[in-house]
Amino acid sequence: MKILHITPELAPWSKAGGLGDATIALSKALAAQGHEVRVVTPLYGSVPGRENMGTLLDVLKVGVHGNPAKAACRVRSLAISSGLEAWFTEHEDYYGGREIYPTREDVGERAAFYGRAALDICLNTGWTPDIIHCHDWTAGLVPVLLNTVVKGTPLGKCASVMTIHNLQHQGLMSRRVMGFLGLPEHLWSPLELECLGGLNFLKGGILHATRVITVSPTYAREILTPEFGYGLDDVVRRRQPELEGILNGVDSDEWNPSTDPYLKKNYSTKDLGGKSACKAELQRELGLATDLKTPLIAVISRLWEQKGLDLAVRVLPKFLRAGQIQFVLLGSGDAQLENEFRRLAADFPERCAVRIGYDNGLSHRIEAGADFFLMPSRFEPCGLNQLYSMAYGTLPIVRATGGLADTVKHWSRTTAQGTGIVFQHADVSGIDWAIQQALELFARPADFQSVQLQAMQQEFSWAKSSDGHLSCYRKALTQRLAG
Ligand code: ADP
Repeated sequence: MKILHITPELAPWSKAGGLGDATIALSKALAAQGHEVRVVTPLYGSVPGRENMGTLLDVLKVGVHGNPAKAACRVRSLAISSGLEAWFTEHEDYYGGREIYPTREDVGERAAFYGRAALDICLNTGWTPDIIHCHDWTAGLVPVLLNTVVKGTPLGKCASVMTIHNLQHQGLMSRRVMGFLGLPEHLWSPLELECLGGLNFLKGGILHATRVITVSPTYAREILTPEFGYGLDDVVRRRQPELEGILNGVDSDEWNPSTDPYLKKNYSTKDLGGKSACKAELQRELGLATDLKTPLIAVISRLWEQKGLDLAVRVLPKFLRAGQIQFVLLGSGDAQLENEFRRLAADFPERCAVRIGYDNGLSHRIEAGADFFLMPSRFEPCGLNQLYSMAYGTLPIVRATGGLADTVKHWSRTTAQGTGIVFQHADVSGIDWAIQQALELFARPADFQSVQLQAMQQEFSWAKSSDGHLSCYRKALTQRLAG
């Protein structure tokens, strides 16, 4: 199959969260199975070595109806692996800044532009995909374009797939974007793209794609309800027959404790010895007391309401004060929450370390050095860190929601079976209970190690995930052919 991905993030060139990891890993896995895969993504100012990126594939005049001087776009092609190429759209005005998701007035136009450019690259080069796979809101208007503006071109026959990586981010933009893309006026309706007086990108994608994917089976059920639907649950329900949940996976080239170059010592299920060395090294690096006997709980996360860390910060002092845990956080986001965690570190300097910012190497060392990984999310479409944690024998402590519920099995005291700690309610007492469970498990070394090994033996591979995607693509092609 010829598969085109359109995504705002592609690691390692751009990554704000799990989306960047997911798009590169899925693309690689599909190409490894012999498919021809192309990925269109913007060339942001933050991309290292952007001046000399790849080779010039094309200079386009993108089919938009704005300022003609801004319609030109250079496309750089980079071969990533056999069968896989990234096509970077280079446009100083739109993407020359360092941020992937900046706050600026033309943010809708900026997103619409690269989606339309993706289609123009195909039309210009004559490379016609079977599947156009759109990721998250920024690519949401592409399925709409396929059904309208470019319907009469060779692309009109392509099947499209819309993946919802997070339904909270929908891209509610100005109606002006419709004119910019030349979309027909009848789409300005609450039954179509209109939403709360604005133009909703993701709504367009959900309604117009041939099929809709979200990133776990549980989240696929949750987003049918008002609690998780963020105002689009009725729209999702309209597409329920074409909706499926497919879990993301772990890219074992990147996240593998036996080969990870960021670690002091590598380890595997055959010999967990290196994990203690990683813990001691992490404690040293972050200025914590070197202490292998106290469980170290870690968080690596965007600090937004979704992640439930505002609840965690209220629970942790009790355990830190009692000397029962050490705690490490790497993340950034909400300024007030950043300050609350900084204060926590100042209150417990030997037991708590907080690093505000983004640091890939440190995130690997934390995954390896911690004993537990806390994800008290209010909702979590899939979550990748609990998968990385399990691969590193770091037991996830998770709330039973979305992909967390689908991937972590609660430890049973009677059978010692399980892969982590799972709690039900996103509230202070839920987290408190879960940490007590973790302490209890840690106090039973044989059980703890048995659960570690079970976690490490879980298989969340991208090969499995890409099989799920391929089966979805086949259904989409059949549907598209049936008209
Ligand atoms: P989300 O996509 O909602 O942010 P996921 O768990 O799916 O959550 O993915 C988060 C990804 O981003 C993981 O790869 C995680 O390691 C990474 N990450 C998040 N914050 C940071 C940070 N401050 N430094 C390094 N990596 C981070």
